[in-house]
Amino acid sequence: MEEKMSNTKTIQEAAREVKVCREADVVVVGGGPGGHSAAIAAARSGARTVLVERYGHLGGMSTGGIVIQIPHMSDGTEEQQIIGLTQEWLDRLDEVGGCLHPKRDEIGSSDEKLVSYWQRFMGNTVRGRIKQTAWVDPELLKCVLNDMVEESEVKLFLHSWGAQVIVDKNKVQGIIFESKSGRQAILGKVVIDGTGDGDLLPLAGAEFDGELDPKLRSSMLALVFRLGNCDYQKLCDFREREPERYQGLMAELARVAGTRLLPLPSPRNDVLWVNNWIPNLNCMNVEDVTTLEVEMRKMMLRGHEFMKKNIPTFENSFILDTASQTGTRGGRRLVGEYIVTQDDLETGKKYDDAIAVIPRLRPVTQDDIRAGKELPEDTAHIQIPYRCLVPVKVEGLLVAGRSFSSDMAANNMVNLIPHCIAMGQAAGTAAALAVKGDVNVRDIDIRALQDSLTKQNVPLPGVPSTVSKA
Ligand SMILES: Cc1cc2nc3c(=O)[nH]c(=O)nc-3n(C[C@H](O)[C@H](O)[C@H](O)COP(=O)(O)OP(=O)(O)OC[C@H]3O[C@@H](n4cnc5c(N)ncnc54)[C@H](O)[C@@H]3O)c2cc1C
Repeated sequence: MEEKMSNTKTIQEAAREVKVCREADVVVVGGGPGGHSAAIAAARSGARTVLVERYGHLGGMSTGGIVIQIPHMSDGTEEQQIIGLTQEWLDRLDEVGGCLHPKRDEIGSSDEKLVSYWQRFMGNTVRGRIKQTAWVDPELLKCVLNDMVEESEVKLFLHSWGAQVIVDKNKVQGIIFESKSGRQAILGKVVIDGTGDGDLLPLAGAEFDGELDPKLRSSMLALVFRLGNCDYQKLCDFREREPERYQGLMAELARVAGTRLLPLPSPRNDVLWVNNWIPNLNCMNVEDVTTLEVEMRKMMLRGHEFMKKNIPTFENSFILDTASQTGTRGGRRLVGEYIVTQDDLETGKKYDDAIAVIPRLRPVTQDDIRAGKELPEDTAHIQIPYRCLVPVKVEGLLVAGRSFSSDMAANNMVNLIPHCIAMGQAAGTAAALAVKGDVNVRDIDIRALQDSLTKQNVPLPGVPSTVSKA
C-alpha cells in the first residue's frame, strides 16, 4: 500500500456567486433507503421536496451497493413489525417480479416443508418459524424507486453531489451541489442528511462522532459483486450434504482471496451476490476507498477462480457486475438530542417519542444465524426515538438513515435497510410537519408525527398496523 498523503499545505478558495436553482420546503441529500424514504414521506405530507443524489440512480446500498437482502421485518410471530414504506418497496417489486420473500400468510408459520425451504435463505426463519426477509432485484428496485419519486412529485437531481450546507446564525438555509451544470444552490426550510455517511454534518457545523471500532461489522468496507450462471439450490444441497467440506472450502476461499467471501441468494436461482468484509480502511478517507476499489477487485478475481475450480455450483459462473457504490456500513454518527446506546437496545428501552419499532436483532451476523444462535421468544422489541434524528445545536437539519445518533455498538445493530427506511419515513414526515407549523424540527408536535406515521401504516407502540397486501 502506498504512503498516505502527508502534505499539510492549504490554499484559499476565492469567494464566488452561486446560482439558486430551486427553493423548496424540504431538501434531502442522498437517495438511499433513508434519504429516498425521507423525500417520499415529506412530499406525500404536502412539502415541496427536492432530492439530490450523487449517482444516476436511487437506492444507495440497496441498489448501487448490491446489498439485496431486506431482512428482519418480523420476529417469527404472525405479526410484522416493520411495514410502512419498506412494505411498499416489496409490494411494488412484487408487481414487476423483482422480489423473493415469504407470502403474507406464511409469516410466523412453523410448517415443516415451508421452514425447510426458507431455511436455505439466511434470515428467513427464527425459532423454527418463518419471518419476513426479502431478496430484491437491484435493477428493478432502481425503477420502482424512480416511480415513487415521480408519483410523489419530488423534484429530483441525479449526478449531483451535495458539497456544502448554507448556514446562517446556526440555522440551515439550504445546500450547494456540484454537477455537470456547475455549482448550484437549493434553498430549503429543512435539510435532511440522507448521505449515510453523514456528509452534511461537518458542513452544517453539527456535532458528530466518527469513531469506528475495528472489531465491529460497521467498520468493515466491502465491494459486493454478483455471479451469474450459478445454481443456489445446488449450492445448498452441497452445503447440507457435506457441511464440513463446505466449511473447509469457504475457509480456503478466504485464504486464497485474501478476504472472507460469502455467496448469498438473490430473487433468481442463477444469480448470487458475494458479500465481503475488509477491515482497517476508513470510508471517510478518499485514499482508503480508492485502495478498497482496487484491491477488492483483485481479491474478487482470485476468489472467483477458486470458486469455479472447487465449489459445486460455480463451475460455469461468470462475474456479472460489481457494486457502483462502495460498501460502507458505518460513517459519521450525529450527536443528537438523544444518543441510542447498546444498553437501550439490549433492554428494549421505551420512548414517548418512538417513531419505529423493530424486531430485536441479536444475533445479527450471518454467521450467528447460520450457527442457529437465537433469541429467547420474550425479547422486547427495539424502539427508535425521534430525538436521535435531531442535532443538538443546529436548527433546520435532520438525519435519515445510518448516521442517526447512536453509539458504535447500537449503530452496528440498527443500520439495516428497513431500519433506515423507517428512520427516513419519520424524518421526512417530521420535516413536513415543521414546515407546515412553522416551527423548528426539534419543537414539532410528537403526537402529530406519530399519528401521521400510523396513518402511513407504520406500527408504533400500542398502535398495531396491518400489511395490506399478501
Ligand atoms: C456490504 C454490505 C452488506 C450489508 N448487508 C446488509 C443486509 O444484508 N441487509 C441490510 O438490511 N443491510 C445491510 N447492510 C447495511 C445497509 O445496506 C446500510 O446500512 C443502509 O443501506 C444504509 O442506508 P442509508 O440510506 O443510510 O445509506 P446508503 O444506503 O449508503 O445511501 C446513501 C445515499 O446517499 C448518496 N450520497 C452519499 N453522499 C452523497 C453526497 N455527498 N451527495 C449526494 N448524494 C450522496 C449515496 O450515493 C446513496 O445513494 C450492508 C451494508 C454493506 C456495505
